[in-house]
Amino acid sequence: MTNKTLQGFFKGDTQNNEVRIYAGPCSIESKEQFEQVAECIKSLKLSWIRGGAFKPRTNPHAFQGLGEPALEIMAATAQSYGLKSISEVLDASQIELVDSYVDAFQIGTRNMSNFSLLKALGRHTSSSLKPILFKRGMAATIAEWLAASEYISYEGNHNIVLCERGIRTFETSTRFTLDISAVPVVHRLSVYPICVDVSHPAGQADYVFALARAALASGADSLMIEVHPNPGEAKSDSLQQLSLEQFKHLIEELRIIAHAMGKQLV
Ligand code: PEP
Ligand code: MN
Repeated sequence: MTNKTLQGFFKGDTQNNEVRIYAGPCSIESKEQFEQVAECIKSLKLSWIRGGAFKPRTNPHAFQGLGEPALEIMAATAQSYGLKSISEVLDASQIELVDSYVDAFQIGTRNMSNFSLLKALGRHTSSSLKPILFKRGMAATIAEWLAASEYISYEGNHNIVLCERGIRTFETSTRFTLDISAVPVVHRLSVYPICVDVSHPAGQADYVFALARAALASGADSLMIEVHPNPGEAKSDSLQQLSLEQFKHLIEELRIIAHAMGKQLV
């Protein structure tokens, strides 16, 4: 791994004291829904939008995402609002398609150990060095997660963002247990930036606020937050998505903490 390869990403996230916010709906459901979120993100002077086109649902009868039409909505909206976009790739067969629409790839928790997918994505992005947000497996140790990331980097793309998103423990009060210790541990053990997804561990919107404040205060390089114009009607993860109003309030709160840390949200 050369310094040159790491420069753009790692230094960009830490030395500029910027904390990146990846916000957006769990699933892209319609042009109107996605544009409302984009408008809100833009009005808050943030720069990235997330949204699922291919959804890894636990139940095969649940909404699976709109697929390519969702990616078309994502690319068009990101372009008209001047935002960068990130979406999940579930299977190696989708890599080229997803690549033609997004600015960054997401690998979900259920695919952390899908080594053939990791190798294929690392190989496919070895010249573009397009960023890959790599989520921790819900039952993986940090050592296993870092080792798995090498399946990507070994193929030539070191532009990886590690993402803690909650792990399975004996605790059932929240959807997953957010392992906030992953932030300092990853900072010690890895050269990659760490994102904290504060929505999937919370499982319900009112817990997202405290988890986001904690993640930012712990030194996370970026946060992932699910936002929906009408969470009650969402086709996936409706309980945990913030409304646009809630998201604005949260960003105001986070800006106070960021300011105290000499950082800014982007
Ligand atoms: C998501 O970000 O929409 C998602 C499915 O996350 P995870 O892989 O962490 O469950
Ligand atoms: Mn989700």
